[in-house]
Amino acid sequence: MTASTLLLYISLFLGSQVLLGFAFTLLRKRGSVPIAALLVTDEPPKRQSAAWSGLRAFRVARRTYEDAAQTQCSFYLEPVDGVALPDYQPGQFLTFSLLIPAAPGVEARTITRCYSLSDSPSPNHYRVTIKRVVAPADQAGVPDGVSSNFFHDHVHVGNTLQVRAPSGHFYLDSVGLAPVVLIAGGIGITPMMSMLRWCAQHQPQRGVHLYYGVRNSAEHAYKAALEDMANKLPQLRLQVVYSKPLPDDREGVDYQHPGRVDMALLKQTLPHGEHQFYICGPTAMMESLVPGLSAWGVASKDIHFEAFGPASVRLPKSEDKPQGVDAAIAIPVHFQRSGRSLTWNGKEGNLLDFAEAHGIRVESGCRSGSCGSCVSTLVRGAVEYDNPPDYDLLPGQCLLCVGKPRDSLALDA
Ligand SMILES: Cc1cc2nc3c(=O)[nH]c(=O)nc-3n(C[C@H](O)[C@H](O)[C@H](O)COP(=O)(O)OP(=O)(O)OC[C@H]3O[C@@H](n4cnc5c(N)ncnc54)[C@H](O)[C@@H]3O)c2cc1C
Repeated sequence: MTASTLLLYISLFLGSQVLLGFAFTLLRKRGSVPIAALLVTDEPPKRQSAAWSGLRAFRVARRTYEDAAQTQCSFYLEPVDGVALPDYQPGQFLTFSLLIPAAPGVEARTITRCYSLSDSPSPNHYRVTIKRVVAPADQAGVPDGVSSNFFHDHVHVGNTLQVRAPSGHFYLDSVGLAPVVLIAGGIGITPMMSMLRWCAQHQPQRGVHLYYGVRNSAEHAYKAALEDMANKLPQLRLQVVYSKPLPDDREGVDYQHPGRVDMALLKQTLPHGEHQFYICGPTAMMESLVPGLSAWGVASKDIHFEAFGPASVRLPKSEDKPQGVDAAIAIPVHFQRSGRSLTWNGKEGNLLDFAEAHGIRVESGCRSGSCGSCVSTLVRGAVEYDNPPDYDLLPGQCLLCVGKPRDSLALDA
């Protein structure tokens, strides 16, 4: 028995909270907190200060649909080890490692996907809300989304999931007090819901403008919760925008504006003054609003955005060069493990697409710089990114899905 474990048992015997705290601190630093000891107390779980590394098991405690069409389902997740959950920043996401069972003609495989936390932090549970992704109607033979359909069809109350700790750099500036403008398109509402709930709890005086673009009442997620918050919080301005209202949808009741969330609407409805903008939605929305806000004079530091998949949106920089294929660009890229030497000319846009286009198999997950599945070691050279990736890279690592070679490159892939 180590000195710190002995101290733990003495403090439990004496009932001393001070000694107990000290013992836990010592044990945590060593990464050896005995779970049974942590569960001895009847008190509600205490907040953990640090996140965990690697995967942690969570049990699905509850699932509930958030829209009338039942395409968006919330999953409430409780840690199997019973230890209190660390806080996260409103806007961050969880990364799931999912074992997808074999189907006829398809082998079992493990995939990685990210899902935003859609509630304010709680020490007892996390919540994610997942939209079922179906194959594009105009592409015959393309399968439906693997992970989202797996969640909807096969993840039930009592099931266990393997989850990485909350992460990501798209989160609310909880120190500043400037009014926030949350702009969501479709399932991009999930990080906004977390930010909104956090503001309601911790900064009820802060002005919040929520612009939520969705097709109609069938897909309007969290409808009752949002309307309830808008009634209770005088500082919240709810601007729901339907692009295809149903015959029974009532303007001014179910939604505030027909059409789309665009610059004209923002200019027409936002009061004059400084705001912090947070945007998450489909590529088309982000590609119009991010440069639109810049052109309107909003400082880059006040525009925050996150894509749920591949997106080319970026804030303009003064040194910008034209994008796309350039015959003058010819950067040698060597894939060491695959034994392939190729030439990059910018056609594919990122190193993952470039590798795949040349038949080189690379692990991948989110394809947006968040999950880390495609992380690779740099043998030589440097990789650049349009936007800083969400995934925290170690020195000497790079992300292929959002990276481009800066100069002659060799990768351990
Ligand atoms: C940081 C972050 C946060 C996110 N938060 C959320 C969230 O809160 N809620 C949420 O619902 N999602 C969220 N996402 C998106 C989520 O991670 C998944 O990308 C989404 O659920 C789709 O995954 P899937 O496995 O179901 O689809 P995939 O299997 O990855 O398929 C994606 C699309 O490609 C199509 N497709 C499949 N195979 C082919 C093919 N051969 N050719 C052409 N098309 C093909 C599919 O039909 C589908 O339309 C987030 C993503 C990120 C990066």
